[in-house]
Amino acid sequence: MSCGDPHDTDCREVLDRVFEFLDGEMTEEDTARIREHLEDCSPCLSEYHLDTALKALVRRSCGCEPAPDDLRRRILLKITEVRVQLGG
Ligand SMILES: [Zn+2]
Repeated sequence: MSCGDPHDTDCREVLDRVFEFLDGEMTEEDTARIREHLEDCSPCLSEYHLDTALKALVRRSCGCEPAPDDLRRRILLKITEVRVQLGG
């Protein structure tokens, strides 16, 4: 995993910031960056079975509607597990 190439969003960073992303606490620029990464990152996401859920969520919460609570909670839980596995 790369660490800190400014042109390439790192998976760890994405996982770190998905919380902000889901909460809508990011700038538009960051939101776009994370969304782009998620759209693009099926290998690492599917490894953790996050891809389907996250993509559904990304599609539904396209900046205009808040994510459904239930889905959001499940994803956050999953992401927490993944981050623990990654040692973050
Ligand atoms: Zn990734």
